[in-house]
Amino acid sequence: MINHNKTLKPGMVALLGIQLDENSTFMSGPSEAPDIIRKTLHSGSSNLCAENGVDLSNEPRFTDLGNFRPVTGPAGFNQITAEISNILDCQAKLLVLGGDHSITYPIFKAYKNKYQTLNILHFDAHPDLYDEYEGNRHSHACPFARIMENCPPNHLVQVGIRTMTPHLRSQAERFDVKSIDMDQNPYSPDFDGPVYLSLDLDVLDPAFAPGVSHHEPGGLSTRDVLKIIHSVRAPIVGADIVELNPKRDPSGITAMAASKFLKEIAGHMIRNN
Ligand code: MN
Ligand code: MN
Repeated sequence: MINHNKTLKPGMVALLGIQLDENSTFMSGPSEAPDIIRKTLHSGSSNLCAENGVDLSNEPRFTDLGNFRPVTGPAGFNQITAEISNILDCQAKLLVLGGDHSITYPIFKAYKNKYQTLNILHFDAHPDLYDEYEGNRHSHACPFARIMENCPPNHLVQVGIRTMTPHLRSQAERFDVKSIDMDQNPYSPDFDGPVYLSLDLDVLDPAFAPGVSHHEPGGLSTRDVLKIIHSVRAPIVGADIVELNPKRDPSGITAMAASKFLKEIAGHMIRNN
């Protein structure tokens, strides 16, 4: 494990890619996403300023720790939790680039050890609350069931949901999840403490972001998601951007949306420190 004590100072925002997509269903691909999002961010096609004025190209509180490729199987999840704990020990805030959505469970496990009060704002077309999916309890369709069982936040709010099944609805009730479906948007978050933000890019309508494995029409626009992120008043202390599938993104527009979210989330983290 790398020692980050020299590079990370309290309050810094650290970018970290986690290259894991073995818990995907239907298609693989997201393990290649972190470098593609970085390449898009630094392509020169856009600048590195967030809309609140934070300029990531000239921001000493922003740093990139590169990528981390965990081993396969349950040991990989333990590696992720250990790596994230190591970074959180430096009092830094993490912005993780996935990877499929299964990584949110081992990441949040480390967060829950560190923060006594923490909420989750989860953007997704899917609630990801399956007890198991295709025999895998760590599938990318299950991370929020594992979180609610083993390291529950104060509140879990899910935005953009449009794929509820009877099983998922009963899971949401059992875990007291606040589910904001498409008809309840625009949504204004009102959290009582720090927030961990988990952004599955398939929350966007496929017209805005075709580069995901599971196309789910009828989703949010890029601006809808940005408005919700901008309206979070509590500090965002950690975040992940997951499920970019480069195989389905020939024009690069989904990577550009991911890069935009990266700038806006990092900008929020730095400004609301
Ligand atoms: Mn999803
Ligand atoms: Mn998801």
